[in-house]
Amino acid sequence: MNIKELYQSMGIGEQVYNFCSEIEAGLTDRFEDIDKTTEYNQLKVVSAMQKNRLAEAHFAATTGYGYNDLGRETLEAVYADVFHTEDALVRPQITCGTHALNIALSSNLRPGDELLSPVGKPYDTLEEVIGIRPSKGSLREYGVSYRQVDLLPDGGFDYDNIRNSINEKTKLVTIQRSKGYQTRPTLSVARIGELISFIKEVKPEVICMVDNCYGEFVETKEPSDVGADMVVGSLIKNPGGGLAPIGGYICGTRDCVENAAYRLTTPGLGKEVGATLGITSQLTQGLFLAPQVVNGALKGAVLAANIYEKLGFHCVPDAGETRHDIIQAVEFGDPEKVIAFCEGIQKAAPVDSFVTPEPWAMPGYDSDVIMAAGAFVSGSSIELSADAPMKEPYAVYFQGGLTYYHAKLGMMMSLQKMVDKKLIAW
Ligand SMILES: *Cc1c(COP(=O)(O)O)cnc(C)c1O
Repeated sequence: MNIKELYQSMGIGEQVYNFCSEIEAGLTDRFEDIDKTTEYNQLKVVSAMQKNRLAEAHFAATTGYGYNDLGRETLEAVYADVFHTEDALVRPQITCGTHALNIALSSNLRPGDELLSPVGKPYDTLEEVIGIRPSKGSLREYGVSYRQVDLLPDGGFDYDNIRNSINEKTKLVTIQRSKGYQTRPTLSVARIGELISFIKEVKPEVICMVDNCYGEFVETKEPSDVGADMVVGSLIKNPGGGLAPIGGYICGTRDCVENAAYRLTTPGLGKEVGATLGITSQLTQGLFLAPQVVNGALKGAVLAANIYEKLGFHCVPDAGETRHDIIQAVEFGDPEKVIAFCEGIQKAAPVDSFVTPEPWAMPGYDSDVIMAAGAFVSGSSIELSADAPMKEPYAVYFQGGLTYYHAKLGMMMSLQKMVDKKLIAW
């Protein structure tokens, strides 16, 4: 069997195969650029591991209180070096990205303080953390107020309004790097740096936190290289490299991380407790693999944009743009196409390929959401996955693929589903 026949045996018709192959052949320069970033980040990670004398003994399991867990301490030192921060909190006790963000925010804000988002509405699940949508235990219930300045229509920062919104109460500024479930552009690290410089000029003591979800290792710099006091993310996205079964990280200044640790565990105990139960090797090896895994995900996203733009759909980022996160949005404007796309992604999965995804009400989201994922780690979105809130503009957010070839199969399968359902006019 040659490779085309192998694809055909998996359900990819000749027309889809030829169409995608032709597009892929035109992407070699783009892929080379992605490889260069990966090479840089791979060295950054390995050198941080060597500098901290990572050793086999660090992978031993701890239980109970987890005092003196050398593997945990070494992994945190490695994260701090990779992100060039004073300290880091990297824990399996952090259940997801939203949890990491909640810890970072609630530990560094006090009643009477104000939180500012100068980049528009944050990720859906943060609305309840902040209290934008009323929620039990939100920051708002604890007397932390919130202000938001939207991006300008062209995606630029609204500097005048940002300056006017910073007041004596403003304690912390939250900047979301990735577009999340929006069709605004993702912020480059350079743009985040410009925004932070501006904010620090207006009020030097304000804490700048970046929600770094989906952005890690996409560029050679991270937001902490351009002035962020804290960068926060999930280990079942980019930095876990597909191997981390759970976890989140907060890297930042000693002060911010210390506050976060007291909030995650308890005042007084902080970073001293937290057994790792034997998963330190997965967290560490995942970080080691992360630059290469992000490489595959990025190439998959570039391929997707080129395929769907050619078919006439609006893609964010567009086919030619440089990437700042691994998410690819495709606006289908039609719920049937959204569903077909997600069915194709599911069918391409190594796990649960035989199930059919359906829209349903997810906790934390304000509309039904359809999610396609057949992942080794449940809900992991560094693995090939697609999410779509069932509301205008009926955009699918596609991300991941632990390898490029798997992402490519997913793209072909999603297109095949649409062709089979006669939703695409060639
Ligand atoms: C995924 C994500 C989150 C939340 O992470 P969960 O692990 O799903 O809780 C927050 N912000 C952004 C930008 C994200 O992409």
